[in-house]
Amino acid sequence: MGSNKLETDDDRLDLAASAAGDNEQKRAAIEITESARKENHLPSFSGQLFEGVFDPKMLFPFPQQTPEDKAIGDKIINELISYLTEHLDPEEVDATRTIPKNVIDEMKKLGIFALKVPKEYGGLGLSQMNYCRLVMKVASYCGSTAVLISAHQSIGVPQPLKMFGTEAQKKKFFPRFREGSISAFALTEPDVGSDPAQMSSTAKLSDDGKFYILNGKKLWCTNGTVADIIIMMAQTAPKIVKGKEKKQISAFIVETNTPGVEVIHRCEFMGLGGIYNGLLNFTNVKIPVENILDEEGRGLALALATINVGRLTLPAACTGAAKQCLSIARRWGMNRVQWGMPVGLHESGRDKISYIAATTLAMEAMSWLTCAWADQQNIDIRIEAAMAKLFCSESIWKIVDMTMQLRGGRGYEKGSSLKARGEVPYPVERIMRDSRINTILEGSSEIMKLFLAREAMDSHLKRSGDLLNPKASILKKIKTFGSVLKFYSSWVPKQLIGEWKAGTYKDLGPLEKHFVFIEKQAHHLAKKIFFSILRYRQNLEKKQLLLGRLMEIGTELFAMAATCSYAASLKEQRSRDDSPVELADYFCQLARRRIQERFKALSSNDDRASSEIAKKAIDKSYRWLEEGVVWMGPNE
Ligand SMILES: Cc1cc2nc3c(=O)[nH]c(=O)nc-3n(C[C@H](O)[C@H](O)[C@H](O)COP(=O)(O)OP(=O)(O)OC[C@H]3O[C@@H](n4cnc5c(N)ncnc54)[C@H](O)[C@@H]3O)c2cc1C
Repeated sequence: MGSNKLETDDDRLDLAASAAGDNEQKRAAIEITESARKENHLPSFSGQLFEGVFDPKMLFPFPQQTPEDKAIGDKIINELISYLTEHLDPEEVDATRTIPKNVIDEMKKLGIFALKVPKEYGGLGLSQMNYCRLVMKVASYCGSTAVLISAHQSIGVPQPLKMFGTEAQKKKFFPRFREGSISAFALTEPDVGSDPAQMSSTAKLSDDGKFYILNGKKLWCTNGTVADIIIMMAQTAPKIVKGKEKKQISAFIVETNTPGVEVIHRCEFMGLGGIYNGLLNFTNVKIPVENILDEEGRGLALALATINVGRLTLPAACTGAAKQCLSIARRWGMNRVQWGMPVGLHESGRDKISYIAATTLAMEAMSWLTCAWADQQNIDIRIEAAMAKLFCSESIWKIVDMTMQLRGGRGYEKGSSLKARGEVPYPVERIMRDSRINTILEGSSEIMKLFLAREAMDSHLKRSGDLLNPKASILKKIKTFGSVLKFYSSWVPKQLIGEWKAGTYKDLGPLEKHFVFIEKQAHHLAKKIFFSILRYRQNLEKKQLLLGRLMEIGTELFAMAATCSYAASLKEQRSRDDSPVELADYFCQLARRRIQERFKALSSNDDRASSEIAKKAIDKSYRWLEEGVVWMGPNE
């Protein structure tokens, strides 16, 4: 490794942790999370975008599913959907908090719990694309059933087993899923959510070295109340590194019929009434050492890697809900006449319908592109998976809110009530309740932006690491300064020129101008990221609003690129129908406006005032404003 790079993993950890600054707990959390962070040497479209490089070849032409793979997906999707639409009432699932046993049994027979299990172990071996197509369709019908399938498969045992299991573990557990075993993922605890590195569950090796003894509590474990096999993360014995104790987190396959595993409570939420989510207690649960997944101490890395892939399902599920909203908004917007005009044709109705349609196209483009890349296995999709999760979860919330507004009072009325009085039971309120969780779980929107920011700054940190590292020697700093100066003296002018000059993209027809915009704005974004690092250095990590805007800009650029490429391919598939291009063009207009607003807000904002006000609010300076209501919580 050259002298301008960080020499070892420990240097990288020291640097990242020193950026955390003031707080020991935060420093420890960053150290553990950094050590779990996996370097990936495959090309990354958005990783390059953050450095001012737009590589359209990676997404244009839009990758196509092969007819053979599509036929495999169509078969199982059709079988499942025709069964569900006949035998499962989503309103009843929501109201009774039950997915009927006969439905779950039929899903087991169809192999729905082995969709992603490789064929050689008896599974269906679906591609990521087919799996996500299936989840999208189920999610458009019944959110709770989609969650049962995806919590099992996207983050439950099949995914980490596929990525990290030994041959013996695969042979033992994979066939169980074809027989219908259900799994779950247990990471969150009552005191740790976004910061799982702080978990307190433990796994102690027994004196004879044959077992791990698990103790602890796991909260909000989806499928946890019905699961047969779960993946659980817990602390194993700490390791001494450079004389310092380092916390170790490991991952275990736990069979829930093991003595000591107990469901204490089934949690109930504002939406997704039929999910089997619980608080689980583990008391001296003795599991064989063979059940550790990957090495001791690699559990958090495994959990994060699992969620990286698992995250691809959520955008597809959000897209399913968005398509349902689009259909409802169009039908209602056309048929409901008030003040002499269909409500969808009043100007404010048009604004909603056009946003819903254009944004749904973008969501679908991002979902299918990331799935295709996951299947290709030659592209680093961590950044795009996070962007798709961020964009789609935020967008479905806006879309369902607009759909509810367009439906008026009927949007707020339950489907069952609409049905009882003879109206079409569009389930807008259920979709709204089901959708809200998406910006919170599998990495909240705030955490997604921090994750993206860490990745966006990676190359700069690597290049200039020794300069920022307080532990680096003066000699190292001088050497690094020389190489950094050399690199940036050509890189910065390149970004400045790139903001004004771009390539030609004639194949995109009327969408060419948006590719030109993306290319130019990628340079502008890269420059802003670089100057933000120079300006704020160690303090940049605390500038969450600034980082958030930069990451939202990157996400919008990726959304635009995916949408233009997808629209161009749809145009061809649809016998040169221009409608996908029209929608993509409109989506890009909206995205460009948002990008420009965010660039403007980098220098013109109310961040300082909001920070001061929040500090005072937390210090109770405005407690007087809380008076005059019936307070329902405990007294302070
Ligand atoms: C329905 C449901 C299903 C779930 N399923 C599972 C499951 O199957 N397995 C599992 O392990 N977990 C599961 N979870 C847990 C879920 O992943 C967590 O809710 C999520 O990680 C957020 O943790 P938290 O709720 O404790 O929020 P906290 O971490 O307490 O965060 C609260 C708020 O603070 C923000 N915040 C936190 N840290 C920062 C920061 N550094 N900077 C800025 N903002 C920050 C968050 O974004 C959030 O808005 C589920 C939760 C729900 C509600």
